Amino acid sequence: MKDIDLTEVRQYITELVLQAGKILKKYFESGKFTSRSKGGVDLLTEADEEVDQFLRENIQKQYPKSKLLTEETAPEDYSSLKNADNLWIIDPLDGTVNFSRHHPHFAISVGLVNKGVPQLSVVYLPIENKLYWAQADRNEAFLNGKPIKVSTTGDLKEVVFCCDWGWNLETRITVVKWLEKVNAFVRQIKCMGSAVADLASLADGSIDIYLHSGLKPWDTAASSLLIEKAGGKITTPNGDKWNVFNPEMLASNGILHTAILNLLNK
Ligand SMILES: [Mg+2]
Repeated sequence: MKDIDLTEVRQYITELVLQAGKILKKYFESGKFTSRSKGGVDLLTEADEEVDQFLRENIQKQYPKSKLLTEETAPEDYSSLKNADNLWIIDPLDGTVNFSRHHPHFAISVGLVNKGVPQLSVVYLPIENKLYWAQADRNEAFLNGKPIKVSTTGDLKEVVFCCDWGWNLETRITVVKWLEKVNAFVRQIKCMGSAVADLASLADGSIDIYLHSGLKPWDTAASSLLIEKAGGKITTPNGDKWNVFNPEMLASNGILHTAILNLLNK
């Protein structure tokens, strides 16, 4: 995939993701799907597996020289992929618990990453009918064809703050500690249940902050590029440089970043 035309690739991936969305819609509307525990409190449905396979097989056919890291086929240790080029990172269904409880807030995420740096991002919320994309070679992120921007909130008292909880229960304690430090200063604290969809919401300005302690690359490969191109900022919660293999993330509209870092690291 040397000298790739990102626009051409994005057009192909967008079509593919829209088709994948039809598979999820079919299951969502019928309510007929099997579910099982993925270990611990995590959940898996046959829709996750079917869409994972659909995206994996089509992308492999279209781009046979690229590598794939998909949520449902990821090995325990994927650290060898940190420096891979042309790596497709895929979450076939982010927000499986919402999906399984007939809540419409869930997303499909496809990101193309070189050495941990996102090149292309397509995120689709099939029930909410939101299609986001961004490319490394363009200066904007888009929602349903229109450019989007992060919020302009600058006052902590007006902040809509969003966090969420990892499947590894130990990482949840970290979020509790963070919330103790910020909860008295912000307007609202939400947990909406889909890191991909929530990070896309930060890109389009509907929330101001997103904080998480247990993210996976398939949560962030696509959504982090949306935020960057919409004018937002991402670091670790300590203020260090972040990349898609880092599970701890603080994402913001940029304006609020230092204020939240100061609260978290008091
Ligand atoms: Mg998933």
